[in-house]
Order: sequence, then C-alpha cells, then structure tokens
Amino acid sequence: MLAPGSTIGILGGGQLGRMLGHAGTALGFHVHIYAPDAELPAAEAATHVTRGAYEDAAALTAFAAAVDVVTYEFENVPASAAALLNGLKPVRPGVKALDVAQDRLTEKDFLRSLGLHTAPYAAADSGATAEAAFAALGGREAIVKTRRLGYDGKGQVRARNAAEAAAALRDLKAPCILEGVVPFAGELSVVAARGLDGTIAAFDAAANVHREGILRTSRVPAQVNTAVGAEAGRIAGVILEALDYVGVIGVELFLAVGGALLVNEIAPRVHNTGHWTMDACAASQFEQHMRAVAGWPLKPAARWADCEMENLIGDDVLNWRAIAAEPNACLHLYGKSEVRAGRKMGHVNRLYPLGGLP
Ligand code: ATP
Ligand code: MG
Repeated sequence: MLAPGSTIGILGGGQLGRMLGHAGTALGFHVHIYAPDAELPAAEAATHVTRGAYEDAAALTAFAAAVDVVTYEFENVPASAAALLNGLKPVRPGVKALDVAQDRLTEKDFLRSLGLHTAPYAAADSGATAEAAFAALGGREAIVKTRRLGYDGKGQVRARNAAEAAAALRDLKAPCILEGVVPFAGELSVVAARGLDGTIAAFDAAANVHREGILRTSRVPAQVNTAVGAEAGRIAGVILEALDYVGVIGVELFLAVGGALLVNEIAPRVHNTGHWTMDACAASQFEQHMRAVAGWPLKPAARWADCEMENLIGDDVLNWRAIAAEPNACLHLYGKSEVRAGRKMGHVNRLYPLGGLP
C-alpha cells in the first residue's frame, strides 16, 4: 500500500483527471498531472503539473522520477509513452488494457476471445474492402467507425448500402471497422474496479441515454431484471481478469431485445457513466481507482441512493443557478473557461431514496 504523502502520476488533464485528483488528495496523496494541453481542468485538483508532450521522452522520464505510480485518465496514451513509463514505474491499469482498448478491431477480437458477445463487425481499410465488409455483415445498415481515436461518436458514419460504406471510408481516411447496427432495447454500462490483490467490486449497472453521440443521462438502478444486472457485473469481471487489470474500467453494453448483453466497448479508465457513484456510494469510482492504483483495499461498491446523472453539455451549464438551488442535486463543474457546443462542462447527480427514482 502506498502511504499517504506518496505521489500518484496521472497522464491527461481533463475532467476525469480533475475528479481523480480530488479523490487522491482527499486520501492524502500528492497528485501529479502530465498533459500537453494549454487548459487543464485537472490542474486545480493537482499538487504538481507538468505540461509536456506524450512524445517528449525526457519530460516523461522526469515525470516518472517524480511519482510512485502512473495512471491515466484517457485511453489514447501513445504506446511509446506507456512503454517508456512502464519501464520506470508501475503503470496501472496497465499497458495491455491500453493496447486492447485503443483499437476497436483488437478490442472486439479480444472480447470475442473471452466468449463475450459483440455487434457483428468486419475490418475495412479501403473503399473496396468496405464494400466487401458491408456484404459480409449481411448487407444491412452498418456503422463505419475509425479503429482508433474516436470518442463522443466522432469518427463514425452510418452506411445504408455498400456505396455509402465505401464513401465513409474515403471520408474518414483511416483504417475502420464496420459494425452491424444493434437494434438494442437500451444501453447499459458497468463501472467496476479490480484491486492489486485481485479483488473485484462492480458498481450497479447504469442505464444510459445518448443524444448526438454524446452521453446525456445515466440512471441507477437500470430497471433491468436481476439476472441482467448480475450478468453485466460478471462480464466486467471476466474482462478485468483477462487484462490482469488494476483500477477502474468502464464497460459499455447493449441490451438486446431478448435480454442478451453485447459489449459495445471498454474504456480502461474511470467513465462518464460512473459519475453517479460520487454521491450515491461510500466510495466514488475516482476514489476506488486511486485506491486500486495505490494498492489499497477496494471499498464495497454498494449504492446508498438511487440517482440520475445528467451531463451538462455546452449551454446546459448556464443553468447552474437553478441547479444549485435544487435540494437533491449534487453539482459538479469542471472549471472550463469557455462554453462550446458539445463540450462536457460538468454534471449533476440527482439523488433519490432507494426505490424512489422517478
Ligand atoms: P463514447 O465516447 O460516448 O463512448 P464513442 O465515440 O467511443 O462514444 P461508441 O461507444 O462506439 O462511440 O458509439 C457511441 C454511441 O453510438 C453508442 O453509445 C450507441 O448509442 C451508438 N452505437 C455505436 N455502435 C452501435 C451499434 N453497433 N449499433 C447501434 N448503436 C451503436
Ligand atoms: Mg462509447
């Protein structure tokens, strides 16, 4: 167990790093953020900040020397940076998790190798292979996604026929996968942690609603039958074990009409659909992650309240006065100076007694 006063290094300086920073400093750790961006929401929650590029080996080496363990708040840490740091200090959740989650094709192959279900998919790296992939998926509507670097629905195009699939590939200008459109009954996610000792604690599954590719709300309980909830937790456990994972993971799921769960994608980090844990659990996903990477025991993932988390996207945040006056609303703002359309500015957790979610 890292003692209080030790330093946890975090790659990335966005809102997830900020909330990890708050959780880490609350436990008595120093938190050192490493990120290249001019504006760093995490900086206000950190003890030290290094502004450096992920390609800057000298700066990364100095960062490693200044911390006791390295973690990250986003999955697109360049492999070279992860490898360099991994030779110097423990990197948790780990290089394998990054490797798998950075590439949608590798990720889907990995999930299938564990016996888990996914949407049907096929790889494509040119217009011609896109047409073949479209046909291989049965000639029904598909989503063309870049294999790497997509988020909030960016790098995705719907294709209703082979010609559209080929055009999408030319527009995206990157290796892609095509996914069959899943006619889901709903979207769920599980946020779960695995400790250094192998203990697993999965938070309750959340029911998620997206609009324009961006998460809007997460609700717990998800109002699915108990078998589905248990299966969601089991799936997270299988993935955590297979990755020999340490820390918090987000597993996005589609609930099929018949009740089956398909894994959409995994995020090897704290996850937007786990923000409700900040106010509805004894330890939030952020504390749980810091505990895991510091080798501390995990807290039980029990939930003490029902909750709806609403993302404050763009102008939504201008309602802060009204939200601040709501008695059951827990407001979390990210300190971003500029409101932009589609930008996650904060979130609000509305709490209800157990069994009282409207
Ligand atoms: P995020 O950053 O929000 O996780 P992302 O850019 O990584 O998004 P995905 O999670 O792959 O992208 O997709 C975003 C959303 O698009 C999903 O949550 C879902 O609503 C829809 N979607 C993606 N793939 C499929 C699919 N195969 N079938 C049906 N809907 C899909
Ligand atoms: Mg997603």
